[in-house]
Amino acid sequence: MAILREYHRPTTLDEALALLSRRDTRLVPLAGGTRLVGLLETRALPDVDGVVDLRDLALATIQQGPGWVQAGAMVTLSELAAHPRAGEVAGGLLRRAVRGEGPVNLRNVATVGGVVAAAEADSELYAALLALDAQVLFHALDGPTAQPLADWTGVSLGALVTGVRFGLDATHGGHARVARTPSDRPIVAALAVAGPQGVRVALCGVAARPVLAGTPLDPPDDYKGSAAYRRAMAEVVHARALAEIGATPA
Ligand SMILES: Cc1cc2nc3c(=O)[nH]c(=O)nc-3n(C[C@H](O)[C@H](O)[C@H](O)COP(=O)(O)OP(=O)(O)OC[C@H]3O[C@@H](n4cnc5c(N)ncnc54)[C@H](O)[C@@H]3O)c2cc1C
Repeated sequence: MAILREYHRPTTLDEALALLSRRDTRLVPLAGGTRLVGLLETRALPDVDGVVDLRDLALATIQQGPGWVQAGAMVTLSELAAHPRAGEVAGGLLRRAVRGEGPVNLRNVATVGGVVAAAEADSELYAALLALDAQVLFHALDGPTAQPLADWTGVSLGALVTGVRFGLDATHGGHARVARTPSDRPIVAALAVAGPQGVRVALCGVAARPVLAGTPLDPPDDYKGSAAYRRAMAEVVHARALAEIGATPA
C-alpha cells in the first residue's frame, strides 16, 4: 500500500500554508526528507495523509546584511557550512556542528528548517544556533513572525519555519562531545560561543531538545547512556567547550 495519498508541490508560501491548514486531510511539510521519509516508511506517523514539498518556495537562499546572516529553511546543511560568512562565524562553529548531523550525503540533503522543526535531542547544529542566539523565522496564515530560538517551543500545526537569522559578532567557538565513535551522533555535546555579548553555552543530549546551559536538565535514559551518565558528561563537555574559548564555568 502506498505510504502517501497526496503529494503537493506549491510555488507560493500562501499556497503551502493553505494546504497545511486543511482540516479534511493531514498534510505535513517535506524538506530534505531525511527524517520524515523514514518515519512515514516505518508507519511511525500513521495519521499523515500526504506531504507538502517545500522545494519550490524560494527558501533556499542565504542572505547577509551588516552583522547578520539569514539562512532560508531549505538551505542544506552543506550549503550553510560552506557559506563564507555563516561557516566562519565563531571560529567555524557551525561548520563543526554540521559535521555532527550525519554523513555528507545526509548533509547535502537535510535542511536548516528540518533541523529546527525536528529539534532532535542530540542535534549539535540546533545547539550551535542556540549558542549563537539565533532567531527562528516562521510563517502562519496570519503572517510572518520571528522569535529567539531559546524561547521557541516548536512549529504549530499549519505553520512553516522559513529560516533562521543570527549575528556574526561571536568571535570564538568551543565544541566538545562524547559519542560512541567520532562519526556517530553525540551522546552529549556542548557548543559555546564568545563575543561582545559575552559567553553562551548550549547542550544537547540532556533533554527532549537542545537547551541553553543553566536550564534544568531532563536527560533521556537509553541504550546510549543513562540519565546519570548524561548529567555527569554534560558537566565535562560544558567545561571543555568553555576551555576552548578561554572561559571557565561560572
Ligand atoms: C543516518 C541519519 C543520521 C541522522 N543524524 C542526525 C543527527 O546527528 N542529529 C539530528 O538532529 N538529526 C539527525 N538525523 C535526522 C535528520 O537528518 C534531521 O532531523 C534533519 O536535519 C531533518 O532535515 P530534513 O530537511 O531532511 O527534514 P525532513 O525529514 O524533511 O523533515 C523533518 C521534520 O520537520 C518538518 N519540517 C521540515 N521542514 C520544515 C519547515 N520548514 N517548517 C516546518 N516543519 C518542517 C517535517 O514535517 C518533519 O516533521 C539523522 C537522520 C539520518 C537518516
